[in-house]
Amino acid sequence: MFFSTSLEVGGINRLIKLDESENAITYVCPYEDLYDEIHQAHLKVGHGGVKITEKELKKIFSNISHRQISLFISFCCFCSEKNTKYGSKRVVVKPLISTEFMNRGQLDLMDFQTMPDGPFKWIMDYQDHHNKLSWLCALASKFAAEVARNLIDFLKHLKHIMFYRI
Ligand SMILES: [Zn+2]
Repeated sequence: MFFSTSLEVGGINRLIKLDESENAITYVCPYEDLYDEIHQAHLKVGHGGVKITEKELKKIFSNISHRQISLFISFCCFCSEKNTKYGSKRVVVKPLISTEFMNRGQLDLMDFQTMPDGPFKWIMDYQDHHNKLSWLCALASKFAAEVARNLIDFLKHLKHIMFYRI
């Protein structure tokens, strides 16, 4: 059986909860002290997880919920940095390295359907990754056959095509 009463502890009146079956007394944490109490317990357990922090808090307080502790820890900068460093969400950024001209490039199609120039509604842009030179070509459609045909023409007549920097 539970019942609550107030008790003066260190000159401060605190609401306590008595559990007669376990002969235990726990404090009821006022709403305005929630952050500080969870913070202290979380630091005491060395930025432990929700369960460890909750276990520490249950020794003293009866009314701090799992959800409140979980919310606090989700905003803990140290824990989020620790989880990013060692967690599964780590992103590996590996730069693309091109050692010479025509080793690697990027092909983009720009949509000009709203501003067609005669039959041409698309602009194909091939950019070399090594020296950032671009080659542009107007296309009537973005069908794979037309893109491939123009790309092959570009590669065949490479010497005769003028490159310019963007
Ligand atoms: Zn933490």
